[in-house]
Amino acid sequence: MTTILAVANQKGGVAKTTTVASLGAALVALGRRVLVVDLDPQGSLTFSLGHNPDKLETSIHEVLTAGVPVGDAVLGTDEGVDLLPATIDLAGAEALLLMRPGREYTLKRALAPLLENYDVIVLDCPPSLGVLTLNGLTAATSVLIPLQCETLAHRGVGQLLRTVSEVQQITNPDLTLLGALATLYDARTTHSRDVLADVSGRYDIPVLAPPIPRTVRFAEASASGTSVIAGRKNKGAQAYRDLADNLAAHWTDGTPLATYDADA
Ligand code: ADP
Ligand code: MG
Repeated sequence: MTTILAVANQKGGVAKTTTVASLGAALVALGRRVLVVDLDPQGSLTFSLGHNPDKLETSIHEVLTAGVPVGDAVLGTDEGVDLLPATIDLAGAEALLLMRPGREYTLKRALAPLLENYDVIVLDCPPSLGVLTLNGLTAATSVLIPLQCETLAHRGVGQLLRTVSEVQQITNPDLTLLGALATLYDARTTHSRDVLADVSGRYDIPVLAPPIPRTVRFAEASASGTSVIAGRKNKGAQAYRDLADNLAAHWTDGTPLATYDADA
């Protein structure tokens, strides 16, 4: 069965796109067949995987709103992941979908013909809790919430968890909340650790291992159109490989997910 992982947080800049690109590449390195889906009209994932959103004729927008077969929009990438790309046109999709019955199921239905081709599909959700994110959560089998390790970054988490819970009750009873992923983590400061302890305590959600360290390599990688996994050996790439190992073991035989203990 295909695992569909939504990476969601309505806050921007928490490393959703970086996580999707890097985790996708790391899962390919583990031999998985991986599709990543850009659900953000900004097209950052599309761009970071080496495709220019401004030059694409067919994207997820036409798939969701005009009934274009999903296979017509999927692209290959140098990373070995396949990409369902987004362009700025997707900004208009929310309004178009709003008028449709069963609008939350549009992505789930669109992806159905692809399931036999992939072991894992990773969804890069946009920075909002609108129709596109609801489509992502409805199509997904599990959801991961990247959290930046800064105090004020967590104000929206309660709202996001309520949305996940509503999706579980209404459109997707099978959705599993895997937990939070600590991003932009600075192990040298006790501040990052305190924030993590606060998050796992306050919201009662697991924080997956390992935290993803802050490293300048990520900015270099996205500027060059390749994920950090393809870049030079560094601790950020290693963290995403470790996360991929953690998730792959869990998905293969139900091994409990390794979690981060902030008090350790
Ligand atoms: P989002 O998709 O949640 O908006 P991005 O993945 O685009 O977040 O990341 C926001 C910015 O932070 C980008 O410039 C990215 O290169 C940078 N970034 C992400 N992860 C790291 C990291 N571990 N270390 C340093 N910079 C990072
Ligand atoms: Mg993004």
